[in-house]
Amino acid sequence: MPIEIKVPTLGESVTTATVGKWLKQPGEAVKEDEPVVELETDKVSVEVPAPAAGRLENHAVKEGDEVEVGAVLATLEPGAAGTAPAAKAAAPAAKAEEAKPAAAPAAQAPAETDYDVVVIGAGPGGYVCAIRAAQLGFKVACVEQRATLGGTCLNVGCIPSKALLQSSENYHAAGHDFAAHGVVIDSVKLDLARMQARKADIVGANVKGVEYLFKKNGITWLKGHGKVEGTGRLSVDGKPVTAKHIVIASGSNSANLPGIEVDEKVIVTSTGALELSEVPKRLVVIGGGVIGLELGSVWGRLGADVTVVEFLDRLVPGTDNEVASQFQKLLVKQGFKMKLGHKVTKAEKTKKGVVLTVEPSAGGAAETLEADVVLVAVGRTAASKNMGLEEAGIALDKRGRVEVDAHYATSVPGIYAIGDVIAGPMLAHKAEEEGVALAELLAGQAGHVNYDAIPGVIYTWPEVASVGFTEEQLKEKGVAYKIGKFPFMANGRARALGMTDGFVKVLADKQTDRVLGVHIIGPCAGELIAEATMAIEFGASAEDIGRVCHAHPTLSEAVKEAALGADNRAINI
Ligand SMILES: Cc1cc2nc3c(=O)[nH]c(=O)nc-3n(C[C@H](O)[C@H](O)[C@H](O)COP(=O)(O)OP(=O)(O)OC[C@H]3O[C@@H](n4cnc5c(N)ncnc54)[C@H](O)[C@@H]3O)c2cc1C
Repeated sequence: MPIEIKVPTLGESVTTATVGKWLKQPGEAVKEDEPVVELETDKVSVEVPAPAAGRLENHAVKEGDEVEVGAVLATLEPGAAGTAPAAKAAAPAAKAEEAKPAAAPAAQAPAETDYDVVVIGAGPGGYVCAIRAAQLGFKVACVEQRATLGGTCLNVGCIPSKALLQSSENYHAAGHDFAAHGVVIDSVKLDLARMQARKADIVGANVKGVEYLFKKNGITWLKGHGKVEGTGRLSVDGKPVTAKHIVIASGSNSANLPGIEVDEKVIVTSTGALELSEVPKRLVVIGGGVIGLELGSVWGRLGADVTVVEFLDRLVPGTDNEVASQFQKLLVKQGFKMKLGHKVTKAEKTKKGVVLTVEPSAGGAAETLEADVVLVAVGRTAASKNMGLEEAGIALDKRGRVEVDAHYATSVPGIYAIGDVIAGPMLAHKAEEEGVALAELLAGQAGHVNYDAIPGVIYTWPEVASVGFTEEQLKEKGVAYKIGKFPFMANGRARALGMTDGFVKVLADKQTDRVLGVHIIGPCAGELIAEATMAIEFGASAEDIGRVCHAHPTLSEAVKEAALGADNRAINI
């Protein structure tokens, strides 16, 4: 007698769900409690299990359908024999194979492979590549050695740092800014343990989210350390695995300075700086780049006395000079101490903390700096060691990054690389775009990344965001340009927010008016830059931005006004 498989109770006040992926097909054998179909609601995602062993007879609904609690999803013939699960994705994978460029190297892979695509590393480059490849019909596995998916970004990078930046900003605002709004709080207390627990929860939800996405897309997580053996061959913790295409997405690690021994307690990298259980009285940050200034901001807002030691005579190299110098002034106003043009030559741990020896970069007398905690934030290096790359003949550049061509192919056929482990900005969204582009290229599509339209954001206060060329780069290239600038001081929304520091700067081609670069320092710069990125991607002119209706009062009006300013026709200044 057939049994109906129905939508189970999904929790209080949840009455409907969307049918996700069918995990079993009609005619297939199922075991008792084996998941048959995925259901999604805005609150939860659940797998509906088979109530008994048998053969699935039919699907009563299709993927994407809205279903009510109690509705019939499928019928099961208990005890009946069924077929083994179909060889997954054989057809689409073969299609993708046919569509591949003639020069694709899969022919050199073993004739029969375990997977079509195996990605090593489940950071934003790797996990996104795996999902896109699965969407395109490939049979995909992803090798990850961490206990959780999501890579540096979700575990010890973008997400935990932004969680602490938000919490510390709230703490600081409650103590310093609320009173101006007429909100008087007598005593603001810091509960660092709770702040850290909130951060951990946010990280946990994000990494679990990737695990769910892997299941949803039928991607196998091969847990362990991946090593490349050659075309079509790799190993995971020593066990052989074969794949038509291997993607190296192993990311990067914090760089260190010679002679400075990190213990992640008093001399920390960004990973240790995200985990401090006490606010250090004196924090020295070695390196005036994005990560150092973001984490310096976190601990500065929570009460640390922060000194930044930077080798160069400026902060955030690569950022538009005018923006960087305004940024430096605003950080100093917040209490940051800057030792630019200096280098740390020695770090000695004492009972009380660390004594650093600091010298002018250009040479000169050394001095000492005392700190309770030292954050070494001098950049990141490609994670290309101990994974068999050189042995397999994969060419690396002088900085240990995997060399790839315009289609992410390494020097060994069938092996590709993306993300932080190759050249280019070490940014999560750059890695993601490469992951998508590569999966599409492997499927014979025209995946590509526009490297002229990759935004960069510094999530300090105020935020700094930019896309396209800086003024200095345009000068160097000999491009004639015009500038439109608009200060947040003249923006109504910024005034209402009480956040008037900073400006928007639009650089446009002098002859054609095409937008070449946009640089923003100010509130929500990281959100505002999306419009500028879109403009650059679409080849818009400054006039195009100026003619778009922007809601009032919004910060985005400052972008419009700056664009109008490139033609000397800003209205509100
Ligand atoms: C504190 C901090 C803050 C950051 N903030 C931002 C931000 O706000 N915005 C932004 O865009 N970027 C930010 N970044 C940079 C961002 O995290 C990286 O650019 C991004 O994670 C790179 O992605 P990826 O996929 O190339 O590599 P990763 O994210 O580094 O992932 C690589 C994964 O591969 C795994 N792996 C490596 N080798 C092997 C192996 N042999 N076998 C199995 N697994 C392996 C690693 O365990 C890791 O999980 C931040 C970084 C840090 C440290």
